[in-house]
Amino acid sequence: MTKNKAKLIIFTGPSGVGKGTILSDFFKKVDNNIVYSISNTTRNPRDGEINGMHYFFISKEEFEKLINENAFLEYANYSGNYYGTSKKFVDEKLKEGKSVLLEIELQGALQVMQKCPEAVTIFIKPPSFEELEKRLRGRHSESEEAIQKRLKAAKEELNNANKFHYVIENKIVDEAVLELIKIYNKETK
Ligand code: 5GP
Repeated sequence: MTKNKAKLIIFTGPSGVGKGTILSDFFKKVDNNIVYSISNTTRNPRDGEINGMHYFFISKEEFEKLINENAFLEYANYSGNYYGTSKKFVDEKLKEGKSVLLEIELQGALQVMQKCPEAVTIFIKPPSFEELEKRLRGRHSESEEAIQKRLKAAKEELNNANKFHYVIENKIVDEAVLELIKIYNKETK
């Protein structure tokens, strides 16, 4: 039997690119040596989102208290809301020998790359910017203002794709999932 290597894996890509869809399939297909880091956020839950499963939905005051307590491995203000990764959760899981996947945006990803240069970094890109806009609008979950903010952030994110070890194009979801599984196996087995 080969030994499993616990890795910190950064998974980044513009809003609407399909990160959630890829990951829900990925986690159904891989072993339980990898866990998803549930982030804290100050944004409101979308329909169907569950506290403690998709995110820990907390207030701005609670989030700022956690910043002051140095509880985050990284955090960012994205599209007008805070998002952050719990340092304690990540440390504990890595110590247990589990890999940890962080689904985070660019600013947070750059912070983790600095602090943890050994992290494996993966960027998911859309087939085109037009396709991204179509997907973002198609999910009907954001206001026009929020969509515009996300598209602006997406441009910046796409310009930084070359800073990641791996870039996966999400053209066909099944293929993107297979690529991700391949990277995971290569990096951890
Ligand atoms: P959404 O509001 O669509 O759930 O997430 C917006 C963006 O924030 C996505 O790109 C998502 O990957 C990112 N995000 C989610 N959790 C975190 C986190 O803990 N830290 C950072 N920096 N970004 C996050």
